Order: sequence, then structure tokens, then C-alpha cells
Amino acid sequence: MAPQPEPKRGRAQGIGVWLASGRCRVCGLALGPGSGPLCPACAQDLAPRLGGFCPGCGAMCADATQPPTLCGDCRLNPRPWAGLMFHSAYSGAMRELILAYKFKARLGLGGLLQKFALAALKKGGAKTPEAIVPVPLHRSRLAWRGYNQSLELCRLMARRTGRPILNRALERIRSTPPQISLPANERRRNIHGAFLARPEIIQGRSVLLVDDVMTTGATLEECARSLKKAGAARITVLVLARTAGPDQDGPGA
Ligand SMILES: [Zn+2]
Ligand SMILES: [Zn+2]
Repeated sequence: MAPQPEPKRGRAQGIGVWLASGRCRVCGLALGPGSGPLCPACAQDLAPRLGGFCPGCGAMCADATQPPTLCGDCRLNPRPWAGLMFHSAYSGAMRELILAYKFKARLGLGGLLQKFALAALKKGGAKTPEAIVPVPLHRSRLAWRGYNQSLELCRLMARRTGRPILNRALERIRSTPPQISLPANERRRNIHGAFLARPEIIQGRSVLLVDDVMTTGATLEECARSLKKAGAARITVLVLARTAGPDQDGPGA
């Protein structure tokens, strides 16, 4: 018998629509009987990163079996937070899911992404901060998109931990060109002064700062600095995914 052609993973056909049983929920590849909801390739892309990364900035090395170790850059220039948690690398199925959720408004994927955020929190193992603060969008972008993906990511974590989401603690007061349009060294300047943190909400509290993807971290650093200036006691960052390095572009705002 002639060999069957390798079936293709059909992401282009539309992520999130493969709800019929027998197909991978992410890419739609036909699965054999008794398999889980994901094909092996998507399952691998969406598995949590357990080692081979820096707990300060999430930078990854090739060997994922290494215990998490602070990178040289974080030792020399500590980030303005106590630690960073993330689920996995921003690549493959994870990247496709985030782009589909964010730019194709496939809101049905929100539940799955919230589960990954919760998994990252559990994997991080740290004491849960007192409050959850999503990275805010400027009101013009919020009006355009209709929802803040970072706020949506917080919902399951808030329910499971009983911690409040402080959506007004941080406000984006300046609309800036998307970071993705700028080289890494200009991103910090672009985002400087873009956020306002409210001391009456945040003072003395430990905070989990949440975003979908970390690229250079310039946006998260600016948020963390604003929160500290407003008196936040301790800041831990949680993102769904971390890009491979500053040269790999994230999804944009
Ligand atoms: Zn798949
Ligand atoms: Zn680092």
C-alpha cells in the first residue's frame, strides 16, 4: 500500500473552531482514538516550561532540564520585581493561540489561556500576592478592541486564589506607538511615563502584575516602577508566554 501523506496541522483554517471530537483543539489535525484534546506537536508547544530559564526575566537557554538560574543580566541589573512566572515560550501553538485570541477576537480561547495563566502561578510556587493588577490598555485601544486581554487572563486566577483584581490601580495615561514597531533600545523611552498608579489602591500591598507576553520587558518594567512609586510592597510578574529573546517580536499591544 502506498504511504499516506502526512496530515497537515491546519492552523490557517482557524484556531478554536475544532471542537468536534477526534480533532486537535488547536490545529485541527485528525487524532487517533483515545488521544487527548491536543495533537502531540501542539501538546508539546503548550507544555509548561519547567527549567532552563531565568526566574528574573524568563530568558531561556537551550537545555530545558537545567534548574532555573538567574541570568547574568538580571544579576547585574535586577528587574524592578521580585520574580517572574510564565507558562511557556512564545512559539508554535502558544503563539498561534495568543494571536488568535488577541487579533482575531476568538474569545472562546480565553478560558484555555486563563488555565495556562493559573498553571504558571501554581508552577511559580510563590506565596500568592494580595492583589492582581493587569497591565492596562489606553482607553483608545480598549475602545478599539473591546476588551483588555491582560485583564481577562486574571479572572480564573482571581477566582481560584480569592485575590481581588485591582483594575483601577494602574492606568495607561498616554497612548504610545506599539512597542513592536520599535527597536529594543527605543522601547523604554517610548513607554516612559505612560502609566499612572494610584497609591490609595496599591499602597502597602503585594501585587501580581499580569500581561500576556513579555518581550524586552520594557512595558512591565515601567508598570512595576509606577506601582512601586505608588507604594506597592512587592511586585511579582506573571505572563503567559516569554519570547525567545529581545529580537523575537511579541504580538504587539
Ligand atoms: Zn494540534
Ligand atoms: Zn534574567
